[in-house]
Amino acid sequence: MAATNANEPSFRESVDLMFNRAAALVDLPAGMEDKIRVCNSTYTVRFGVKLRGEIRTFTGYRSVHSEHMEPVKGGIRYSLGVNQNEVEALAALMTYKCALVEVPYGGSKGGLCIDPREYEEDELERITRRFAYELAKRDLIDPAQNVPAPDMGTGEREMAWIADQYARMNTSDINAKACVTGKPPHAGGIQGRVEATGRGVQYALQEFFRHPEDVATAGLSGSLEGKRIIVQGLGNVGYHAAKFLSEEDGSKIVGIIERDGALVDEGGLNVEAISKWIRTHGGVKGYADASYVEDGPSVLEHDCDILIPAALEGVINLGNAERVTAPLIIEAANGPVTAGADEILRKRGCVIIPDMYANAGGVTVSYFEWVKNLSHIRFGRMQRRQEESRHQLIVDELERLSKDTGTGWTLSPGFKDRYLRGAGELELVRSGLDDTMRGAYQAMRDVWRSRDDVTDLRTAAYIVAIERVVSSYKAKGL
Ligand code: GLU
Repeated sequence: MAATNANEPSFRESVDLMFNRAAALVDLPAGMEDKIRVCNSTYTVRFGVKLRGEIRTFTGYRSVHSEHMEPVKGGIRYSLGVNQNEVEALAALMTYKCALVEVPYGGSKGGLCIDPREYEEDELERITRRFAYELAKRDLIDPAQNVPAPDMGTGEREMAWIADQYARMNTSDINAKACVTGKPPHAGGIQGRVEATGRGVQYALQEFFRHPEDVATAGLSGSLEGKRIIVQGLGNVGYHAAKFLSEEDGSKIVGIIERDGALVDEGGLNVEAISKWIRTHGGVKGYADASYVEDGPSVLEHDCDILIPAALEGVINLGNAERVTAPLIIEAANGPVTAGADEILRKRGCVIIPDMYANAGGVTVSYFEWVKNLSHIRFGRMQRRQEESRHQLIVDELERLSKDTGTGWTLSPGFKDRYLRGAGELELVRSGLDDTMRGAYQAMRDVWRSRDDVTDLRTAAYIVAIERVVSSYKAKGL
């Protein structure tokens, strides 16, 4: 990680500073600013699990930032860096994120102070079930009140254990599956959830590049085609974003930064091959088809068109912001740019697509999963074949017209197959996500472009989110 500066505020303070900047530009009822900013509650749990002949004590948290809408929502992180400050900052970001993309939740976040790589699968299962038990018995896991999801260090497997643990404790709750999202499809999950955050980053960039004026503000031009991208962190989010952008939008991944160094190649890196290498070797070192840079964080400062920090918070900070030259940064991680770095980058004219928007794809598809669980039916099940038969009618009619009129018109190759196929769950999830990312960008952009006192997308995003949270509080009579 890049060196941090002693003047750097904590993550929680950084989020609050950014919130304060925006809140000062909104006409709020007296006291409302404080009410929104504070975290409503943070529960700390310490529990013991018997492992390898001894009792090991673990510390976990679940923080609820705002209950202006319920359930509250946010992932559970497994990392040695987890602490109350971090969990609260992340819970606050969840509130603003959900408001911005209009998913009807308040913000929450959880964390367990653990290095998951130190444990065997069955040990992790016991630890996870025990943590879930502690949270569920306090309604901190509950389909109507608090719905966790994956975050750093957790995934489908952990979510399946949590769902099962909750179901065991609530045997007659018909909505038990909706107590957590990010489950594997065979355990009540939804297609497209694993790729969702990375896919959302791609949709966010696609939407940004639909606005030439915004692209020009970043000093860029044209489309995503050929854009040179550096990605920091090839975990779930970074991997999917890099994969989709390079395979589908013609962008070039010229740098990948990981824990043990970075790989660079102006000709474009092979994301799939590198991801496979990381999974088998635990890092990027030794990968033959690119140049290896031992000082990974220094690659954040390399020349590129788009920088995608997709790992930890605070990686662009007072210690390196002056040297980061990317004209466009999209925050796939939560809080990768500190408040101080944000100011430096803004002054330099760098456009930052903020975390609360950029990585909202995960919680958006979580919302679809929750709705699916509550409706007990998969998306598209009722409509798909009906849609296909109506399309068939048109194709038959076109073919008949061509024949009867003797024009000899034929449908273009592949059209029939593509047109006839009704949308399944994955297509519907992607369509809903794309629509959400477009709509949220436009809401944010309207504020950015229409107000002289708003000069960056982050402040605009906060303003949209704050106004929506205020409307909910007002409707509740606060
Ligand atoms: N942990 C993810 C986030 O930070 C997903 C949260 C969710 O799906 O509820 O947005």
